[in-house]
Amino acid sequence: MGAGAEVYIGLGSNLADPRRQVLRGIKQLAGLKGYTPLASSSLYQTAPVGKTDQPAFINAVASGRYSAGPRELLAGLQEIEKLAGRVRLQKWGPRTLDLDILVFGDLVLEEAGLSLPHPHMWQRAFVLIPLAEVAPGLVIPRWDMTAAQLLQRMEPDMLAKQKVVKV
Ligand code: ADP
Ligand code: MG
Repeated sequence: MGAGAEVYIGLGSNLADPRRQVLRGIKQLAGLKGYTPLASSSLYQTAPVGKTDQPAFINAVASGRYSAGPRELLAGLQEIEKLAGRVRLQKWGPRTLDLDILVFGDLVLEEAGLSLPHPHMWQRAFVLIPLAEVAPGLVIPRWDMTAAQLLQRMEPDMLAKQKVVKV
C-alpha cells in the first residue's frame, strides 16, 4: 500500500479520439512518481455545457495515493496534458486532455493556480457521477457531502442540461 494522501483526479477530452486520450491519461497518471493507483471509473460521454458548439466529451475519475504535495501533483498532471498535445487556446474550449485535481486528502485551500477541492465540481455532473461510482462513501471536504449528495442538491434544470451517459 502506498503512503500519502488519497487523491481523486478528473479527466476529460473532446478532441483527437477522446476515449483513447482519457484511457492513456489514466495510464500515465499511474506512472507518475509517488502515485499509486487505486481505482478508475467507467468512461462517460458528456454533452458540452456552456460553449455548446464543440464535440462531446469523454470524462472519467481516477483515484490513487500520492506521496508528495498538491503542487507536485498539479505539475505532474500538466506534464501529462502537455504529452497529449494540449495547447491552451480558449477557456472552456475543446481540449485534447484536461486533468484536474478534484480532491487531495482533506485539504481545503484557495491559492493562485490551485483550489482544493476543485471549486466547480459541485455543479458538474460529469465529475460527480464518475466520482460517485469510484468513491460512493467519500465525504468531500469544503462541502462535507458525498458526490451523490452534491448531485441531489443540484438545481434540477442545471442537472437536466447535462447529459452524462456511461459508454
Ligand atoms: P479548466 O478549468 O477547464 O480545467 P484549465 O485546465 O485550463 O481549465 O485550468 C486552468 C487553471 O486552473 C490551471 O492553470 C490551474 O492552475 C488551475 N487550477 C486551480 N485549481 C485546480 C485544481 N484543483 N486542479 C487543476 N487545476 C487547477
Ligand atoms: Mg484543468
